[in-house]
Amino acid sequence: MQIIKTIKDMRAFNKILRTGNKTMGFVPTMGALHEGHLSLVRRSREENAITVVSIFVNPAQFGPGEDFHRYPRDPVGDLEKLSALDVDAVFMPEGSEMYPEPSRSVSLDVGGIGRMLCGVSRPGHFNGVATVVAKLFNIVMPDRAYFGRKDLQQTVVIKKLVRDLNFDVDIIVCPVIREKDGLAMSSRNSYLNAGERKAATVLFRALKLGEKLILAGEMDNAPDVRREMEKMVRSEPLADPDYIEIVDTRNLQPMQGIKLPAALCIAARIGSTRLIDNIIVDKKRK
Ligand code: AMP
Repeated sequence: MQIIKTIKDMRAFNKILRTGNKTMGFVPTMGALHEGHLSLVRRSREENAITVVSIFVNPAQFGPGEDFHRYPRDPVGDLEKLSALDVDAVFMPEGSEMYPEPSRSVSLDVGGIGRMLCGVSRPGHFNGVATVVAKLFNIVMPDRAYFGRKDLQQTVVIKKLVRDLNFDVDIIVCPVIREKDGLAMSSRNSYLNAGERKAATVLFRALKLGEKLILAGEMDNAPDVRREMEKMVRSEPLADPDYIEIVDTRNLQPMQGIKLPAALCIAARIGSTRLIDNIIVDKKRK
């Protein structure tokens, strides 16, 4: 497994390894890797001759006062996990390699899609995500890139980025990997103390309640379902909901009357940690 720190070396790796028809899969991450990340890596390994993983905590996607400086970092542990999965290369640049100029004169604006859901409390976040992913695609030049549905809005933004700027990259969206009690895996779960960790399961419980109400035919309009989900979240003293929305899976537009498939999306603070989760509700398969 090659550890690559510079853009120049990443390009050299490409030139040497990508002879013939070898396809390359790419998994962009911010590190502190867990089974959610590793599921993307395994999928890429299955589907491509070469797999490249990036580890870069992207300052451009953190707002002022957010957790950029204390975001969990574990480069040694990450490299062990990736080496065990036989990844071909890990691209882990310094901030100054990715953003050498103090201020960029070109930056991306993803428009309205970046201002809804998480964009309301994290203005500019998705512009920062789109900017770094565009840069990484230009540097790594993969055939396929793997993203988790855990960050549903991010997947919609990235697909739009690829369409609008004509990147020649297939975007593969992979399922949410959860702990045994349903909590979606996240690097930020490490911020939770024992009481908060227990309380954090309320996100998934509320999503499952919403799903049950819809699939049982008990409710067919979004405000009613959201109200029940919010009641459940508020019943947990350590949880403070940021948003609970029922949206179209393709464009994230909020629904009034529920049409399947629908995405149930939730963000809540557990103590001071902001967590997100979602499930897709679709017709029951027999
Ligand atoms: P991050 O390091 O948080 O930027 O995440 C890197 C990639 O891993 C993103 O595509 C995430 O959606 C994905 N990811 C994070 N957590 C999970 C999870 N629990 N299940 C599946 N994918 C995940």
